[in-house]
Amino acid sequence: MSTGTRFTYDALPGRILFGEGLAGTVLADELDRLGCRRVLAFAGEGERDIADRLLPPLGERVVGVFDGVRMHVPAEVAEAATARARELEVDGLLCIGGGSTTGTAKTVARETGLPILAVPTTYAGSEVTPVWGLTTAARKETGRDLRVLPRTVVYDPQLTWSLPSALAVASGLNAMAHSVEALWTEAANPVTTSLAIESVRALATGLRAIAADEGDRDARTALTYGAYLAGSCFAVAGSGLHHKICHALGGAFDLPHAETHATVLPHVLAFNAPTLGPVAQRLAEAIGCDDAAVGLSHLAREVGAPQRLTDVGMRPDDLDEAVDVIAAKLPIHNPRPVDRGDIASILAAALHGTETC
Ligand code: NAD
Repeated sequence: MSTGTRFTYDALPGRILFGEGLAGTVLADELDRLGCRRVLAFAGEGERDIADRLLPPLGERVVGVFDGVRMHVPAEVAEAATARARELEVDGLLCIGGGSTTGTAKTVARETGLPILAVPTTYAGSEVTPVWGLTTAARKETGRDLRVLPRTVVYDPQLTWSLPSALAVASGLNAMAHSVEALWTEAANPVTTSLAIESVRALATGLRAIAADEGDRDARTALTYGAYLAGSCFAVAGSGLHHKICHALGGAFDLPHAETHATVLPHVLAFNAPTLGPVAQRLAEAIGCDDAAVGLSHLAREVGAPQRLTDVGMRPDDLDEAVDVIAAKLPIHNPRPVDRGDIASILAAALHGTETC
């Protein structure tokens, strides 16, 4: 900090409860707090077992369960869920699941203004953001609206025990991308930076531990905590160069979301690290290494994530087209000015992997 430090922080509201086993005991009281007497619950296919444990004790208060969740929230799913909420005349939404389930409840809240109580079961972080997403005719649109921000979030790490380790690693690395990018976006501030560093520390610890032993419960707690912080800083700081690159690649070449993040992030970080000042050292220390970009790349390798874009389905021949797709999005706000040549260098490094990362 220096005497010249100035920042603006649009802090977000929300009540957070965190603790192992909590979801089995606090949901009724938390719904009371929100004044919810008739709720529509949301749970996707993979979250059914968890919902089957959590919903029965809530009795008649749960008047329906929407299980038609699909990834990226297709418009027809959002419409069906909203119609169900209206038909049942509910006064609240209870979502139990990952980012897709939370995202479905958010689209209903956006239409109806109903409050959401979120019970996350992955490390996506959507439950603490006011960002919604909706896919119409294969095109995903996103936006910010405070009405979709869950009023209450119950983090119960136990609910993530059943997440297969490959999914847990992918979800944890996705959260890591939110935190690292939050260090350099336009809306970043010293508070979000501190949250991001603490998040990276928890996520790195949790990722290494589940890679060593997927049944490590402390690791799932660390990942849940890291994911909460990652979502919180992403909610305020937003996304930047890294997410723009990954979304463009994902859309143009149909690459897997989390794995693309894992391969690209170290190279965007290597590009931006010289602008981060002392934060680069704080980040390296949080990852547990001397150089943050190298450390991140090694961490991805340690936990079995792919190292190169060629590992996730991109072909060397795709490079020029990829540069064109991303360069079309310039100018992109970034602490270090970024031009077409820089994008080509970052992508070339991510395509083949490099010794420096
Ligand atoms: P997901 O919600 O699609 O879940 C992945 C799979 O895991 C699903 O089959 C699900 O049923 C299953 N699953 C969830 N929890 C489980 C558990 N505990 N045990 C076993 N299986 C379980 O994936 P995700 O990574 O949580 O979310 C990704 C989506 O969230 C993307 O669409 C992304 O764009 C969105 N997202 C949005 C925001 C935002 O702020 N709006 C933030 C992050 C992610």
